[in-house]
Amino acid sequence: MSSSLRFEVVGEAFKKKAIETPTPQERPSEFFAKYVFTRKKMKEYLPTHVYEKMCDVIDNGATLDLKTADIVADGMKRWAMELGVTHCTHWFQPLTEGTAEKHDAFVEHDNQGGMIEVFSGKQLVQQEPDASSFPNGGIRSTFEARGYSAWDPASPVFVIGDTLMIPTIFIAYTGEALDYKAPLKKSLHALNKAATDVCHYFYPNVKKVITNLGWEQEYFLVDEGLYAARPDLLMTGRTLMGHDSAKNQQMDDHYFGSIPGRVAEFMKDLEIQALELGIPCKTRHNEAAPNQFELAPIYEEMNLAIDHNMLLMSLMTRIARKHGFRCLLHEKPFAGINGSGKHNNWSLATDTGILLHSPGKTPEDNLRFITFIVETLMAVYRHNGLLKASIMSATNAHRLGGFEAPPTIISSFLGKQLSDILDHLENSTEEELINVGGKHSMQLDIPQIPELLIDNTDRNRTSPFAFIGNRFEFRAVGAQANSAAAMIALNAAVAEALIHFKERVDALIAEGEDKTKAILQVIREDIKTCKPIHFDGNGYSQEWQEEAKRRGLDTERSCPLIFDRYLDEQSVTMFELTNVFKRYEIEARNEIKWETYTKKIQIEARVLGDLSMNHIIPVATHYQSQLLKNVKDVADIFPADHAKKLSSRNIKLIEEIAERTSLIESQVEELVNVRKQVNKIEDEHKKAIAYHDKVEPKLEDIRYQIDKLELIVDDSLWPLPKYRELLFIR
Ligand code: ADP
Ligand code: MG
Repeated sequence: MSSSLRFEVVGEAFKKKAIETPTPQERPSEFFAKYVFTRKKMKEYLPTHVYEKMCDVIDNGATLDLKTADIVADGMKRWAMELGVTHCTHWFQPLTEGTAEKHDAFVEHDNQGGMIEVFSGKQLVQQEPDASSFPNGGIRSTFEARGYSAWDPASPVFVIGDTLMIPTIFIAYTGEALDYKAPLKKSLHALNKAATDVCHYFYPNVKKVITNLGWEQEYFLVDEGLYAARPDLLMTGRTLMGHDSAKNQQMDDHYFGSIPGRVAEFMKDLEIQALELGIPCKTRHNEAAPNQFELAPIYEEMNLAIDHNMLLMSLMTRIARKHGFRCLLHEKPFAGINGSGKHNNWSLATDTGILLHSPGKTPEDNLRFITFIVETLMAVYRHNGLLKASIMSATNAHRLGGFEAPPTIISSFLGKQLSDILDHLENSTEEELINVGGKHSMQLDIPQIPELLIDNTDRNRTSPFAFIGNRFEFRAVGAQANSAAAMIALNAAVAEALIHFKERVDALIAEGEDKTKAILQVIREDIKTCKPIHFDGNGYSQEWQEEAKRRGLDTERSCPLIFDRYLDEQSVTMFELTNVFKRYEIEARNEIKWETYTKKIQIEARVLGDLSMNHIIPVATHYQSQLLKNVKDVADIFPADHAKKLSSRNIKLIEEIAERTSLIESQVEELVNVRKQVNKIEDEHKKAIAYHDKVEPKLEDIRYQIDKLELIVDDSLWPLPKYRELLFIR
């Protein structure tokens, strides 16, 4: 069988399978949020006073009493049952990747031998999933065994199939967060408070500051049949072996190329279902690598945006299977080509409609703009190591630091215009900056900033934290990660910077300084302080590695050591000041990080060991026997001298196979031994470090030999779909 046909059989079955793609007759604006209990539906299904109460809860964080919750639950139940819903579940984000659910039917005994449909306020507001099966880093064993989930009214409930899904936080009875959503909400609260306080210098009527997030989700699709024939993809999410395809992304022909028909069908199906669930999908395109794609919605308030991203990832996974694909969210499923990230576009906006990271029309607006830019940079500078820790994982580590993804050093790209403005502020004298004319005519000499910065188009792809016109784009977040981890650290760090900013400005004002002068003075100090974080150059270059070290930025590359940044005194102080985490919560979360890291490498090591011994060595040996037989046959027929000449290539191959298989065998044995040793380490931190230093490098050594064998063993014998088969959907 020729190589391109080897796996055709499995692939073909899926291609032929009839796929019903919904073809709604309505326009997106008509079916958008069809399955979401939106404000409009609340108004329809709830009494007016309860609707108003709910708006107060959502907009202003008012507390919800159980009596009101009962009425809300009843309205929700009526709406949901009209859609054929029979069950409800609390939907939460534990410290694994992904989401968790526990379904309960809407039924109770009616005490007369029958059943009635019941959905009470208590069921809506609180449930007790079995907390012991989720990672908790020892919090529950040390504190209290039980956890509960509690409704987050800021994120509307929605319906999937026959189930009403209720977004919740997940916490221990003693109050510690066991999820991502609880600390995310705390960080948003802290940032709202700190940013609103600073806003009051400029706009006294601002009531709150909203944090926006627009994520761009990258992913790969592979044929389901081929996926099923790759145990490594199935069990670890990435290929642990596989030689480069002769053609991959060097032609740059995939990016923005036309989308293959099967994929277009999948995307359409996905987008319709996502829109029906209220996810405002906007952009879709091919990404740089073959079979790699991106979906981006319009940005939203962050709490909701993250729920929507979690929901989208599960939709992608489910809908891909319906179309005969598997969706890969791993950050680096294939070596040698681009990995997948999740760009997080982050910005702040006031309830009065001002984008705080966007320049304005007046000098005062621009002073506000500079303030929020500089304090964001202060946060990123002060906590650059922590921010790196917040996006780091065993899987994302494969993507970072390559020549296609953000480097493992956090820095910020600002572009020429903004850099010039900061330089001007730093280098001018106070008199030059502030011209005091008549009584009320103080003028700020901040150069005119056009509302749309030209640097908007200047895309420095090598920067992990780039300013782009009206927002920052944090590009180091991993494709399969819950963005909340990164956003919690960023929000809290910026909140801290704004708190410190305000303290210093207020102190100057208290000494009698003019407000504008006080703000300028503090900003000028901070521009100098955070200078090391600003880097517009090539983040991939060797010189940047050296330069970053000189600047005192975090250049650590080992994943388990990067996690240590959470425990730095300045991180703990920052999280405690902003009331996001207590020290022991951070400690518990780090235990989980190390443990997860170890487990991932452990699984990869096992899978690679198995594949080497059960797939690769037997097949290579089989091929070697065929060659040996050929050599013998040739010797039988031809005179010795001639036979030797004819068989010289095969003999070389026989020797090469012998050499490589025996190397693989001994390396697998070493791998097993090293694992046995390091598994004895009890301390999770030390164990993760040992896995990083001693186990992981061995995987690469074994892969190297296997990939060489892939090139010489008869293609028809090779048991695993190759890159060239996996990567080109036809
Ligand atoms: P790219 O060129 O990087 O793909 P897009 O224009 O597609 O950029 O936008 C990427 C994401 O950024 C989208 O989700 C978009 O809604 C979001 N975005 C745009 N403006 C802002 C903003 N001010 N704050 C946060 N996100 C934003
Ligand atoms: Mg972008």
